[in-house]
Amino acid sequence: MARLALDRTSSSAEVTEAVRAWVDEHVPGAWRDAAERGGRAAIREVRSRADYEAWYPVFADSGLVVATWPVAYGGLDLLPDQARIAQEELAPYNLGRLNPLGLSAVAPPLFAYGTEEQRQRFLPPLVRNEEKWCQLLSEPGAGSDLASLATRAVRDGEQWIVNGQKVWTTWAHTSDFAVCLARTDPSVPKRQGLTYFIVDLHAPGVDVRPLRHIGGEVDFNEVFLEDVRVPEAHRLGPVGEGWRVANTTLSGERQMVSGAGSGGVDRIGGAGAERLLRRAAELGRTGEPLVRQQLMQLYSEERIRAWTNERVRATVRAGGTPGPAASIGKVHGASLNQRLQLLAADLLGMASTAWPEPWLDGMPFEAKGMLRSRANTIEGGTSEVNKNILGERVLGLPREPDPWHDLPWQDVPRS
Ligand SMILES: Cc1cc2nc3c(=O)[nH]c(=O)nc-3n(C[C@H](O)[C@H](O)[C@H](O)COP(=O)(O)OP(=O)(O)OC[C@H]3O[C@@H](n4cnc5c(N)ncnc54)[C@H](O)[C@@H]3O)c2cc1C
Repeated sequence: MARLALDRTSSSAEVTEAVRAWVDEHVPGAWRDAAERGGRAAIREVRSRADYEAWYPVFADSGLVVATWPVAYGGLDLLPDQARIAQEELAPYNLGRLNPLGLSAVAPPLFAYGTEEQRQRFLPPLVRNEEKWCQLLSEPGAGSDLASLATRAVRDGEQWIVNGQKVWTTWAHTSDFAVCLARTDPSVPKRQGLTYFIVDLHAPGVDVRPLRHIGGEVDFNEVFLEDVRVPEAHRLGPVGEGWRVANTTLSGERQMVSGAGSGGVDRIGGAGAERLLRRAAELGRTGEPLVRQQLMQLYSEERIRAWTNERVRATVRAGGTPGPAASIGKVHGASLNQRLQLLAADLLGMASTAWPEPWLDGMPFEAKGMLRSRANTIEGGTSEVNKNILGERVLGLPREPDPWHDLPWQDVPRS
């Protein structure tokens, strides 16, 4: 156990010194050498995903994965500015945070509505990536209009019995737990009859069936819940308040997808267009006026995006919530990434539309990236729905009409 000996009184120099000493002692020498030699690309050559996962608990034990969190939950209880200094010291070694949905979409409701017992039980193993998490929200009949969902939870003594079907559940096939939004009272309007739960995905009655992306990879799943027993102690937040609780997940996820939750400004902000500039040079395309124009457009948009994300992070650091502002990053980031990936595929030319067998393994990363990016405007809430959020909550436009607003959920017509 090598938790850093830092606290809120530590000076900037002390933070820097402690992190440097920790890196020297705990980050494997080959990774450090690679970072010095050739940055992230060189690190990737000497460090496999499996190596990183095996080493990750050492990182988690340092407290640096979630430096601003209380020590009891795996953090160092640092101030946001101290954490930022620590993060800058770590940046060259590309120590990404694992269990991203756990950190961005599950920790927020646990902090906001969880009991002390739930936080102590679930947060430390989440930070160590020993228990992986996903979110059981969308259903075949409820995506954008999530509050209309039909999965039912009925109380039975000290347990709840959950029945329903979820879909598009990212990483359910590799997860241990999920947050799950279920209907506990159909006799009230849709948003009032929901409750949030923590579901053990290894419990009897949970059936996870993988689905393939357009690019061939398995990333998300259908999840069938049949008489799944959830202890009352795993209810997250008050009965009937699930909509409010789940919104902390949705906002955290949006922030993650938008990039505002990522480690450094440049992690999502600069890498894409810069990589593309290098690629265009390798392919001898930078002399073409049209290509130059496209590259510069994307590059400048990426910088603007990084600054916008920085603004959201500053709000969070100052104790605010990302709120609707995260929707700005989500809408813009999705469209930007699609255009970046499309240009990458364009630059490669024919090779991005046809390649030698095997089909999946032989697919160039430009084609993979371009196909995967189609989901960017859907996952984490579609761009259209995020624009509605911006229109209503940022611009103050009239709310979207909902003729069923005050009707009990059970009386709303559905197909
Ligand atoms: C890669 C990926 C990963 C995902 N991971 C998860 C996950 O881990 N957990 C999870 O629960 N879900 C996940 N989802 C599901 C995702 O949240 C939903 O797909 C999304 O919210 C849209 O819902 P839907 O697919 O039912 O589409 P629909 O809601 O049926 O929408 C269809 C179309 O209608 C438009 N539309 C709908 N309502 C409005 C409106 N009011 N105003 C204007 N336009 C509207 C939409 O923008 C869209 O273009 C994932 C999806 C993808 C693609």
